[in-house]
Amino acid sequence: TGSGLSAEDVPKEVPSGPIYLNQNENPLGMSPHAKKAANAALAYGHRYPDAMVRSLAAKIAHTEGLSNDSVIIGAGSTGLLIAQMFAMSGPNTTVIAPAPTFSRVERQCAVTGATYVPLPVNDRFEVDLEGLERLSAKTTGPVIVYIVTPNNPTGVLVPTNPLFNWIKRAPANVFFLIDEAYHDFVDDPAYQSAVSLVKEGYKNVFVARTFSKLHGMAGMRVGYGFGHADVTGKISAYYAPWNLALPSIAAAMASLDDTDFIARGKKSNSNGKAILTETLDALGLAHIPSQTNFVLHQITGDHQTYKDRMEEAGFLVGRYMNTGPGWNRVSIGTPEEMQAFCRTLKNFRDKDWI
Ligand code: PLP
Repeated sequence: TGSGLSAEDVPKEVPSGPIYLNQNENPLGMSPHAKKAANAALAYGHRYPDAMVRSLAAKIAHTEGLSNDSVIIGAGSTGLLIAQMFAMSGPNTTVIAPAPTFSRVERQCAVTGATYVPLPVNDRFEVDLEGLERLSAKTTGPVIVYIVTPNNPTGVLVPTNPLFNWIKRAPANVFFLIDEAYHDFVDDPAYQSAVSLVKEGYKNVFVARTFSKLHGMAGMRVGYGFGHADVTGKISAYYAPWNLALPSIAAAMASLDDTDFIARGKKSNSNGKAILTETLDALGLAHIPSQTNFVLHQITGDHQTYKDRMEEAGFLVGRYMNTGPGWNRVSIGTPEEMQAFCRTLKNFRDKDWI
């Protein structure tokens, strides 16, 4: 193969296709109930989906104790992040965000003309909220603070109270875009979703979430967002809320009710994560404690070389996200996949590659 690995080095359990540990998807696939609902929705494929989109928004609003006009549905949370940027940013806007973080909003700045100002996380990979607030205070004109919590690619939570206190005392030119894509995986009892600020009536915050992660629906493209009605009204002017496929909406509705599947997904993720971190510890490779379905861990040497070698061994890993050399983000697969991945890590160590 050119990887230096012989056939015996590759664990038999590894299927012939690559194992996807690179995009933080759910390795279990979709809920069986969601698949059934999506299939059933094909019978209504000739009908526009407006009513069903509204039903999904109402269902989510009810769960969160919000009014229906505080919830909007988009084609993935990406659709909502982009719409928020179109609605609220222009050439005189400054977007302030930690680095590293998810890059979609930064890329959108190039479209709306906003200036993107990243602030590095500290040496424990924690977001420097005080530093971000200082930066924001120095900025004139509209400011959007983009916070992913837990953050991607680090898996680290932004502490709830300091974040909420900042949002509550922020001046009128500062708006908070809170990306909770990994909300469903968080088990830290100190965490609280920023949706509670929306419930309290704050108009300077929009919260985005997704069905792409724990619900295993990345390919179905369903995201949702929370904001004061004034905020959701502004954002929804920048996209067509009926631009979602009926089977996707039907699947999302069914998935929300499938508590068994949700519990199974969380358990599988924590088991897979434990298998991984145990091996990383045994190999003496540092890793950042993660509240998500991925782990940022140390490697030795060049990131791209590591990624290429993993691909040849059957694993797609990492996404380069300015984490620098020496670190890789790996998504959590099934426990079996993580066992196979860990055997490969050990093989790499034997070859002095990590
Ligand atoms: N936000 C973050 C932090 C993500 O990591 C991702 C995808 O990985 C997204 C948003 C986009 O998700 P969606 O599939 O909902 O568009």
